[in-house]
Amino acid sequence: MQGVGFRPFVSRLAKEHGITGWTANTPAGVIIEAEGEPEKLERFSADLKTRRPPQSRIDSITMSPLPAAGDAVFEIRQSRSGQAGAAIIPADLAVCPACARDIAEPDNRRFNYPFANCTDCGPRFTIVKSLPYDRANTTMSEFEMCADCAREFGDPDNRRFHAQPNCCPVCGPHITLECGARTFSGETALPEAARLILSGAIAAVKSLGGFQLACDAANAAALDRLRKAKNRPAKPFALMAACAAAAKKFCEMSAEEEALFNSPAAPAVMLRKKENAPAVSPGLATAAVMAAYTPLHRLLFAELAKRGFDGPLVMTSANLRDEPICISKEQVLQRLPGLAGAVLDHNRGIHNRCDDSVAFVQDGQPRIIRRARGYTPQSVRLGRGGGCALGAGGQMKGAFCLARGAEAFLSQHIGEMDEPGCESFYLETLEKMQALLGVKAETAAHDLHPDYAATRIAKSLGVKTVAVQHHYAHIASVMAEHDINGPVIGLAFDGTGLGPDGSIWGGEILVCEGAKWERRGALKAVRLPGGDVAAVEIWRMALSWIMSVYGNNWRDKAGRVFGGLDGVDTAARMIESGFNSPYTTSMGRLFDAMSFLCGGPAKAGYEAQAAMEFESLCRGGADDGWNFDIYKENGLWVMDPSPLIRAALENPLPRAAAARRFHGALCAAAAAAVQKISPESGTKKIALSGGVFQNRLLLGLCTGRLARAGYEVYCNRQVPANDGGLALGQVYAARSTLGA
Ligand SMILES: [Zn+2]
Ligand SMILES: [Zn+2]
Repeated sequence: MQGVGFRPFVSRLAKEHGITGWTANTPAGVIIEAEGEPEKLERFSADLKTRRPPQSRIDSITMSPLPAAGDAVFEIRQSRSGQAGAAIIPADLAVCPACARDIAEPDNRRFNYPFANCTDCGPRFTIVKSLPYDRANTTMSEFEMCADCAREFGDPDNRRFHAQPNCCPVCGPHITLECGARTFSGETALPEAARLILSGAIAAVKSLGGFQLACDAANAAALDRLRKAKNRPAKPFALMAACAAAAKKFCEMSAEEEALFNSPAAPAVMLRKKENAPAVSPGLATAAVMAAYTPLHRLLFAELAKRGFDGPLVMTSANLRDEPICISKEQVLQRLPGLAGAVLDHNRGIHNRCDDSVAFVQDGQPRIIRRARGYTPQSVRLGRGGGCALGAGGQMKGAFCLARGAEAFLSQHIGEMDEPGCESFYLETLEKMQALLGVKAETAAHDLHPDYAATRIAKSLGVKTVAVQHHYAHIASVMAEHDINGPVIGLAFDGTGLGPDGSIWGGEILVCEGAKWERRGALKAVRLPGGDVAAVEIWRMALSWIMSVYGNNWRDKAGRVFGGLDGVDTAARMIESGFNSPYTTSMGRLFDAMSFLCGGPAKAGYEAQAAMEFESLCRGGADDGWNFDIYKENGLWVMDPSPLIRAALENPLPRAAAARRFHGALCAAAAAAVQKISPESGTKKIALSGGVFQNRLLLGLCTGRLARAGYEVYCNRQVPANDGGLALGQVYAARSTLGA
């Protein structure tokens, strides 16, 4: 791993043990030539493993004897470029405590300097153009270190020894603040930015991997303008808090959540809101909150604090809907005209665009929802090596995965692939990642869906390809993470994915073994009237379920539910005739239907809104009382929620009580189906994946219940359970089926 202070550590260790020789970065990894007494060499190599820097990772050490060179000292040599190898660059790291102190001390030469960094922190992936990770190969190459910085860089006892982006106010990048025709620079930029934010302005802030839009989270007018401009009437915005203590004022935070919040990756962490939390996630029990993870953010909060402000800022990606985030001032002004009253810019280039990551803690373990800054390009270790396979990913939450040897590198979150700009960002990122890793895809796996942009891209590469069913890919992503070959019973619950029968799957129980899989259970199939539009007009799925339960009598029993809605008769005819209404087993759409039937809104303002709000209603956990029918039909175990539909209509409960019963019933149905399938398939291993398992209540219920029943339960940890993790499963499939 490069850029984590490993060579300085080697140098210090060599001096401590009286070893001479040298060390250097190569694309193949770190090379050390060490000369000394045998017992000293032994202690030296043992310490390499046990005392390594916290951000480093040693995958393997290969040693071979050499004739003594007679070196008098130990030195760090210039990096060598050359053929591709195993070295990888680290992810960007949040500001470390020592650098945070430097910028806060008036006597320090980096006082108030927004670009302080060291071997423990700072930009990495976002500034790297090529390997090896040296300043000349980063966007810092245009800044020449001053004498003071050069001295730190060359001093093995300094924590900035070989810190590639090392800089200071004399020699490094600088910020400017632009608002309208006025420009502020130097000491005046941050105070003015703080003043504008407190007066209700939205500021665009250049962060590590792109611009963010910041405003006072308590300012309703600013929030409203942001929602209108981004065309996001209800979708949650992420928050940034000065520190964990500041976040705890409006959110609950466990010790594990605090550790994740303060981790070098510094993702936005999903936290349970307190009553006084800002209104950034209406209808939800949680808010996504991240730490002030760069010196620039820290200094902005310090300026706000001077003016008596101690609340959180909205800190959302500067983009329209789910397009790629802006990485230049020009893009901000062009894509979001008139929105940002101020643009806090700087002149350190962003080479690799990288959005903020989102994660949550479940059972004491971090789980990733959006994998980008702080995680990319960390690899997932695979069970075995092989050629370079590409997993192309899905249509929503696009991301690809490249396997090199026994490592799988997931790209940063790209965005929704049908948004403008996402396809070109995807192609650009694919090219950059292949260059950085020194590989070229030899095989490619893509989704079964022929119209996905990623499917088209994979097929255009001119390499051997394989189509991988969506829900198998979800389960395979878990198998890849945990090095399971199978057999395993996979519960893949999500919104949509094409089945081999042409219907829309999403509530699947698959038995998987390596590249082989078989569908053994599913949610009962009903019509999806109007296709994708049913995910927005969620009353349509309620209608579909009601017609499936009550048949021709549905109007007598449930007609009132649809009073005042347009298009009900048309949708009913579509369900009857099947016109533009494929069958679906989507679990996401069942959440939609139940949420509406239990008194929720008829339309979703953003993806999975109904399901997220339904989960948020379950403050007291889940309840028993409702039960799915479980039966075998045509060899398939069917989870049939008809009794729930009837109960919700005929014995309506308060919305929260209904939500608790629904979660309890779904968990019980999944467990009951597993109990039937396990003896048939001879395995007690269970894998849970798919976007529905971002529902923390359901995930907790299912893992707990299955574990208590004696099953081994596996979930996604390093990659998202949603479609952002599909590509890893596709790589697993490519390796297994194409022998790549
Ligand atoms: Zn630092
Ligand atoms: Zn300097």
